[in-house]
Amino acid sequence: VLELGMPERSTVTTCAYCGVGCSFKAEVKGDEVVRMVPYKGGDANHGHSCVKGRFAYGYATHKDRILKPMIRQKITDPWREVSWEEALEYTASEFHRIQYQYGRGAVGGITSSRCTNEETYLVQKLVRQGFGNNNVDTCARVCHSPTGYGLGQAFGTSAGTQDFDSIEDTDVVLLIGANPTDAHPVFGSRMKKRLREGARLIVLDPRRIDLVRTPHVEADFHLPLKPGTNVAVLTALAHVIVTEGLFDEAFIRERCDWAEFQDWASFVAMPENSPETVGAYAGVDPETIRGAARLYATGGNGAIYYGLGVTEHSQGSTSVMAIANLAMATGNIGRRGVGVNPLRGQNNVQGSCDMGSFPHELPGYRHISGDAVREIYESLWGVKLDNEPGLRIPNMLDAAVEGSFKGIYIQGEDILQSDPDTRHVSAGLAAMECVVVHDLFLNETARFAHVFLPGSTFLEKDGTFTNAERRINLVRKVLEPKARYADWEATQALARALGLDWNYTHPSQIMDEISQTTPSFAGVSFDFLERVGSVQWPCNEKTPMGTPIMHIDGFVRGKGKFIRTEYVATDEKTGPRFPLLLTTGRILSQYNVGAQTRRTGNNAWHEEDRLEIHPHDAEQRGIRNEDWVRVASRAGSTSLRALITDRVAPGVVYTTFHHPDTQANVITTDFSDWATNCPEYKVTAVQVAPSNGP
Ligand code: SF4
Repeated sequence: VLELGMPERSTVTTCAYCGVGCSFKAEVKGDEVVRMVPYKGGDANHGHSCVKGRFAYGYATHKDRILKPMIRQKITDPWREVSWEEALEYTASEFHRIQYQYGRGAVGGITSSRCTNEETYLVQKLVRQGFGNNNVDTCARVCHSPTGYGLGQAFGTSAGTQDFDSIEDTDVVLLIGANPTDAHPVFGSRMKKRLREGARLIVLDPRRIDLVRTPHVEADFHLPLKPGTNVAVLTALAHVIVTEGLFDEAFIRERCDWAEFQDWASFVAMPENSPETVGAYAGVDPETIRGAARLYATGGNGAIYYGLGVTEHSQGSTSVMAIANLAMATGNIGRRGVGVNPLRGQNNVQGSCDMGSFPHELPGYRHISGDAVREIYESLWGVKLDNEPGLRIPNMLDAAVEGSFKGIYIQGEDILQSDPDTRHVSAGLAAMECVVVHDLFLNETARFAHVFLPGSTFLEKDGTFTNAERRINLVRKVLEPKARYADWEATQALARALGLDWNYTHPSQIMDEISQTTPSFAGVSFDFLERVGSVQWPCNEKTPMGTPIMHIDGFVRGKGKFIRTEYVATDEKTGPRFPLLLTTGRILSQYNVGAQTRRTGNNAWHEEDRLEIHPHDAEQRGIRNEDWVRVASRAGSTSLRALITDRVAPGVVYTTFHHPDTQANVITTDFSDWATNCPEYKVTAVQVAPSNGP
């Protein structure tokens, strides 16, 4: 601020990093943001912030931003700068040609959890109305799609049950596969505060995350389970609760189906689900499992918070259902202080799912096969909608390799860097005839693109984001779009080039269409949000001021559903060639693949990803701290420097994936969640050996 001078104006908007959704006052001088001040009136953050939202906004003016559309006939040709008109006409003619030549289903689109609800809604509308198919998917596919499936099955709605404020009434936090002090820092601090006030803590994580032991906070139980054994350990917790009679019979009889509970209880009570049996292969002391189960069931208000350490597994959806079982069995749902709370990674991953980005669902999680739902959109959009689910991202890539999928519009996602099994992703992209990347930077995926459309940052648009607590926050335009169009305008221009009659003049009109067609958003409008600040869906005539806590009087699906959660070990096995298990995570100063944070001062805090390895495993391999090591899996190999630490257990190694040089996804496999295809990022069998460098 001192360098750039005093701000001339300020605008309140919403952070575009994680799913906490903090509000900031963006202070501006000329056409540059000079400071982001945490906004005290923010309902999600109450004036708090972290190093990402507060300091890492400089990418918006970074020299790497591409501000002109570009096209090229072949990916080996040099890029050619063109006008927006030429780029859009070229794209539209290519998509038309491909559909004429290969069929209606030969093209698709990917929405972004970084973009606004309105932008996401438009991309799925473009695919359904303009392409005439359901080949639309979102980057939630690779993070929280199992949350959508699992919670939908158990409770009837695909979202977390509580607001963040609810933690003030929590007595026991059960934290599974999440590291909130790094990945969701503002909520992580809030959790830490509650723990300092005396709430008890159980952590299920292969790694000793900060909250396990940090000043004034120590977990009562840390279960350092072997990566890939979540379902087994969660079911062992249930075993203790059932066999020791710690379940809440009154709650279950009233809110769930008693016969279903009995069936589930007889399953979890089997000897193969006992702490002794499970603990032996999951690497957890049986008494620790027993102690954790007793504490969660009897310690007062128990709240479960979980992250990608739950979902990014071949049994991700099963783990989510196992979590739901625990909450229902103990009556920890439907009031303040309890619940099941997925910590969403991206700013608008909840919103992108809400907006119909999945190939089987229209906005509001309504299945595409429902005639009544399709009719709403058919009459509004004037088209006949396909009643069959479309292709998911991995299926689009498979179809591309097989030759039946030829064109894709990717908004705000770098699938080459962030999706698993890089070789397969590049093979799929290389086989397509028209790849359109709509992004801020020439990302890795753009290596295979034929058209590049410049994206806009969150500072350059109006719209809304929906955070991890279902809170819809306004995003307000702070600066004019640097590349002419905000993303919603670019998608509209593409739709018009394809021949669609779209005439939105402001994102508020898109939200009006969303609220007109989506019951859980019926009461939402920009005017309403300006008046009340923010609101948590469902927001409609029944709950006009929104719904901080869900399932208070009954589950959305009626009776809560207990589901048997059989543990099936992943096909990714260790053995003599690949004896260690690699798992991945995030660090405070960086964000996901680092496209934004690496282009800010935050990069200085974490300039490279390291491989955490236990002293015992390092010694066995002659690896010293800071040595370069080669990490090899069945899929591929990469090199990075070693960090010797007992934060990881023997047999487990860990890395972040914020830097493209790390190429973590060169080594991840193509195993995925059985229900949703969410990749199994968290379990890869690897060998680690000293190397000479990158
Ligand atoms: Fe942004 Fe998340 Fe940090 Fe809040 S906690 S400032 S939303 S990155």
